[in-house]
Amino acid sequence: MNHLRPITEWLPMSLKEANKRGWEEFDVILISGDAYVDHPAFGTAVIGRIIEDEGLKVGIVAQPNWKDDLRDFKKLGKPRLFFGITAGCMDSMVNHYTANKRLRSTDAYTPKGEAGFRPDYATSVYSKILKELFPDTPVLLGGIEASLRRVSHYDYWKDELMPSILVDSKADALVYGMGDQPLREILRLLKKGVPFEHIKTIKQVAFLQNRSLPLPKVKNWETVSLTSHEDCLTDKKKFAANFKIVEVESNKWQANRITQNVEEWTLIINPPYKTMTEKEIDTSFDLPYTREPHPKYKKRGNIPAYDMIKFSINMHRGCFGGCSFCTISAHQGKFIASRSEKSILNELEEVVELPEFKGYISDLGGPSANMYKMKGKDESICEKCVSPSCIHPVICNNLDTSHKQMTQLYRKVDEHPRVKKAFVGSGIRYDLLVDDFNKNNDDGNHDEYIEQVVTRHVSGRLKVAPEHTSDQTLKVMRKPSFKYFHKFKQKYDKISEKHQMNQQLIPYFISSHPGCDDIDMANLAAETKDMGFQLEQVQDFTPTPMTVATVIYYTGLHPYTLKPVKTVKTRKEKQDQNRFFFWYKKENRTWIKQKLENANRKDLLNKLIEKPTVTKMPKWLENRRSKK
Ligand code: SF4
Repeated sequence: MNHLRPITEWLPMSLKEANKRGWEEFDVILISGDAYVDHPAFGTAVIGRIIEDEGLKVGIVAQPNWKDDLRDFKKLGKPRLFFGITAGCMDSMVNHYTANKRLRSTDAYTPKGEAGFRPDYATSVYSKILKELFPDTPVLLGGIEASLRRVSHYDYWKDELMPSILVDSKADALVYGMGDQPLREILRLLKKGVPFEHIKTIKQVAFLQNRSLPLPKVKNWETVSLTSHEDCLTDKKKFAANFKIVEVESNKWQANRITQNVEEWTLIINPPYKTMTEKEIDTSFDLPYTREPHPKYKKRGNIPAYDMIKFSINMHRGCFGGCSFCTISAHQGKFIASRSEKSILNELEEVVELPEFKGYISDLGGPSANMYKMKGKDESICEKCVSPSCIHPVICNNLDTSHKQMTQLYRKVDEHPRVKKAFVGSGIRYDLLVDDFNKNNDDGNHDEYIEQVVTRHVSGRLKVAPEHTSDQTLKVMRKPSFKYFHKFKQKYDKISEKHQMNQQLIPYFISSHPGCDDIDMANLAAETKDMGFQLEQVQDFTPTPMTVATVIYYTGLHPYTLKPVKTVKTRKEKQDQNRFFFWYKKENRTWIKQKLENANRKDLLNKLIEKPTVTKMPKWLENRRSKK
């Protein structure tokens, strides 16, 4: 950490620090569930820097104590304009609990990884405290927790359908998705003296208003109404149908405003902004971050989430995969906002100057690493599109999947004299690189991209996420057939052979996803065993708010067809599915044997338990070893 920087280079976390900047009070105070790391990968820093960039005075209260006399909430005083709240980079419940609802012992967003520095349902807890202490000051919610709980949603930890977070939190409004554009507009209006309650016609803002009031009038906005929260409580099918509307609207070029009645209010969710332009996203990344945690954490120890990303560079936002279990497109949208090459290379110059930089970039990435600069060939077609994914069930033939600009950029980073190696640590959508699945290899550079990645950007193991082997489950996941993973592996092995490299391909899988049963899991175990894998990177499905898979988990229905989908629900059923991943462990073998005998699946039993395990070695390595 660079200790020579003056404290005024960070956004102030105390009145003393504010005074050093010549500030007597704050326009906006941000309350965050994460420690304050002044880096563009941390939402509070981005929002704080935007507020500063708009010429306003912003202070940060990170991880306030909510159990004592609440002095942390009062220490910066009352802001002139509003309080902004975020639970942090993760939903607080996902941060605190495992898929089996066990309390986690660590928290990557806190110094030393210590747990216990934010409450469960942090957004609501902070908001209610502020509304008690400062009833006249507006409270604006943001961040992933508020964003994905903006409308009726299933909460796995309470096992309940909950209304919009605006109801429980008592906040005045929330901003969903990436907050850059709506926040700037809100700030511009407030600076002009427009009262906070008049922000109701800004895009990407949601709020509650009394049911008797008419909807604010906005030219060209169409409105779609959802079934009320109360009706959803008694009819799961209506909740499932609601979800489809919310998802489709969240991923449209020109979306509609959404309304939903809840208690005595109408919840109003304004349509999202269009995807950020290159200039807009560059502006966000080019703000004057110190790229370091606030010095007040110096004595408390390292922040693990910061350690993971301090030498990484994010190239874009958004993901057009639309996987059923994932929240990225619900939060960041399906259209990709890509930074310019110049902005990325400028950031590289800053990273190589960091005192602890040893020549290794840990990630040149994004939500899915290889979607940089991808968009529709003819965007007038995208303007009318309602599909939640551009690559499921097939790759849209209007999608430009050229990897050329990305490959060139990787090379430029790789050639930097201070970079020994630049890894691509974010997940790669391997299916985009398989010609049988992706027919859009117009400029024929997909293989060149794989070769560049395999030879220059892999740290010994390339991680990809087929997620399952059962085509039925994969369909529910909105993932392609497993046969394409086999094809990718062939390409990967061929390139490894050409360059005589022995880098492992590590596949990621999920158990107990809707659509998956024990036999699907046994098949997964048998098929991956046959390919020579002994799985380590596995996950048990967690039903997080606002995903297709979560809606299926809760309702038992697919929100698009309203037809039943089988789903395991109990802790025991989930643990059982997870055990199949570890067929090779002694303690699981008898159990698996019994399960498969009971299911009358001798064939699987034979493959999984009785057939000897073969460790597959690359052919070139095998040949070389046999010659010795
Ligand atoms: S038209 Fe194709 S590329 Fe454009 S948004 Fe729709 S699915 Fe994606």
